[in-house]
Amino acid sequence: MQKVAVITGGCRGIGRAMALKFAGAGYDLALITRNLGEACEDTKKEVDGLGVKLHFYQADVAREEEVVAAFSKIKEDFGEIYVLINNAGITRDGSLLRMKGQDFSEVIDTNLTGSFFCSREALKLMIRKREGVILNISSVVGVYGNPGQANYAASKAGLIGLTKTMAKEFGSRNIRVNALAPGFIESDMTDKLPDTLKEEALKKLSIKRFGKTEEVAALALFLASQEASYITGQTLCIDGGIAL
Ligand code: NDP
Repeated sequence: MQKVAVITGGCRGIGRAMALKFAGAGYDLALITRNLGEACEDTKKEVDGLGVKLHFYQADVAREEEVVAAFSKIKEDFGEIYVLINNAGITRDGSLLRMKGQDFSEVIDTNLTGSFFCSREALKLMIRKREGVILNISSVVGVYGNPGQANYAASKAGLIGLTKTMAKEFGSRNIRVNALAPGFIESDMTDKLPDTLKEEALKKLSIKRFGKTEEVAALALFLASQEASYITGQTLCIDGGIAL
């Protein structure tokens, strides 16, 4: 039986790169996305021909009932899942003193609470099979903080705590949980950053370029594989040395 990977936000950016990488390695795909649009059609075109099954599920990960409904449909369509990647994420940057409560809670609700909802539903399926892998896409700013990103950094640091706790709680059921902490990766999220900020970031990098989505995808595929069978509860920085 083929292995199934569920990826949230799997139609754009890092999520899409992971979808293509996992499909290339023979995984069937269940992609959870907020919007079913052109980005999903483009992803479908790229996956078609790789000989794997692909289904899209429209859900806002911050809404518990939508996540529960999506996983119930995934169970119907695929029966079981092997990998969950909590990748969906948003930013609402601003200085802390001016940050609105709504901007703080929307980021926490999507990046952290959404990952909790998806993990809980995925774990119900993984526990029955006594195997599985969860990967949480955190960020280097969750490790070292960043002015102007109090909400985002808190959500990504929270994901590291969630990762360690799930690793401890479910390791005995043969379920591994790790976090990836990317630095600056070329995507829609970083395209919209001001040039001055990008230039500052470049100065701090040991490898003098931004990362590529495919590089994050390659790490995710390794962490999901049997080659990584003794790695759990870790946060792996993939950041060109920015966190050094
Ligand atoms: P993008 O903005 O390119 O893509 C984000 C994806 O998340 C989209 O597919 C989007 O779906 C989906 N999404 C957002 N909110 C929700 C929601 N509420 N429910 C379901 N799906 C949602 O971002 P990246 O690819 O750059 O980032 C992916 C992850 O990597 C994020 O968690 C981000 O924080 C993290 N990261 C990115 C870094 C970077 O430099 N790019 C660095 C460190 C971490 P839709 O298309 O429907 O809007």
